[in-house]
Amino acid sequence: MFIVKKPKQLTEFVARTRAQQRKIGYVPTMGALHDGHLSLIRSARAASDLTVCSIFVNPTQFNNPDDYKHYPITIETDIEKLVAAGCDVLFLPGVNDMYPSGFAAKHYELGHLETVLEGKYRPGHFQGVCQVVDRLLEIVQPDDLFMGQKDFQQCMVIQKLLELTHRQQVHLHILPTRREPDGLAMSSRNLRLDADQRSTATEIYRSLQAIRDQVQSSPFPELEQQARVRLERSGFAVDYVEIAKARDLSAPEGSKTPLVALIAASLGNIRLIDNLLLN
Ligand code: AMP
Repeated sequence: MFIVKKPKQLTEFVARTRAQQRKIGYVPTMGALHDGHLSLIRSARAASDLTVCSIFVNPTQFNNPDDYKHYPITIETDIEKLVAAGCDVLFLPGVNDMYPSGFAAKHYELGHLETVLEGKYRPGHFQGVCQVVDRLLEIVQPDDLFMGQKDFQQCMVIQKLLELTHRQQVHLHILPTRREPDGLAMSSRNLRLDADQRSTATEIYRSLQAIRDQVQSSPFPELEQQARVRLERSGFAVDYVEIAKARDLSAPEGSKTPLVALIAASLGNIRLIDNLLLN
């Protein structure tokens, strides 16, 4: 696996690949890699000739400085995992490489995606996500982009970014959430949970399953409220439990259209998110 730190080097490398008509698959990450990330690498490998992964903990998408400061960094084991998964290139830029002096931040018109759910509870987060992904796409120029359903709303934001930046030729692949045996969605932030918090954390998935099991028989606000109470009793501070249309995250009208339940809740200062398609 090649490890590239400078944007210019990477751009030259991928340009040579493209000149040979070879397809480039790309997996952007913030590191502390787990099997969720590696499932994206495996999918990229299956669909592309060259698999590029990036690890960059992007400061501009953290609305909470404490979260940024404590974001886990495990670069040595990340490299081992990427080599074992057959990744071809790891892009490992520094903050100054991504945002050189004179870098002008754009504003992305994300519409209601920016005001609901994560948008509402993490002001500025999706602008930061778009800023970094726009820059990464400019450097990597992939044919295919691989992301996880775990970050359901982020996938929609990135699809919108591809439209806004006229990159409709880039194919976004959204892959299923990988879970621990007890159902907890794999997440880099799980590394920060202590033993008690780790065993409580599975309540998020159980709450989502309870919603799914009753979605045809109970009113949505009741299901949302039951899940909220269940999580609060287990010790979570709940940001939201919401049932929404899976197509655009707008308010649901009934259980005929595809629906998704989404939860964001914190244990101590560790904030976890998860979601489940309901029908
Ligand atoms: P992150 O490093 O958290 O920014 O995530 C990088 C990519 O991995 C994003 O596209 C995430 O949606 C995806 N991802 C994170 N956790 C999982 C998971 N448990 N299953 C599948 N994909 C995931």
